[in-house]
Amino acid sequence: MSMLKFEVFSGGTVTFDLSKCSQCDTKACVQVCQTPGNGLILKLDERDLPSLKVAQDRVAKGACIEDMGCMLACQLQGKDAIVFDLPMPEFEEAVRNLREDQPVHQKDEKDGHTD
Ligand code: SF4
Repeated sequence: MSMLKFEVFSGGTVTFDLSKCSQCDTKACVQVCQTPGNGLILKLDERDLPSLKVAQDRVAKGACIEDMGCMLACQLQGKDAIVFDLPMPEFEEAVRNLREDQPVHQKDEKDGHTD
């Protein structure tokens, strides 16, 4: 399976399943990425598939702003071909601390958090 995968500044990765992209008429990911204020890192290559228009080391240093606009556009108008795998240590810790038999609001009260 053909993939486009690159590292981003947060330490995560973004992966495109290009076998899905070859079936996509909209190429919405590239359009969104080219919107002013977004990363401006994607282009269509000679095969009409998404590719990087800047060097991977620049992408990893923050050229990709990780706004996930490409992924949302792909989910809405493409073929759901993009996976963001970003480190979220606080979220993962919160999930680890949840117990199925304990409602979230009780856990928050125990920890001293109230809304
Ligand atoms: S919108 Fe999705 S399926 Fe279409 S080219 Fe972009 S990543 Fe591929």
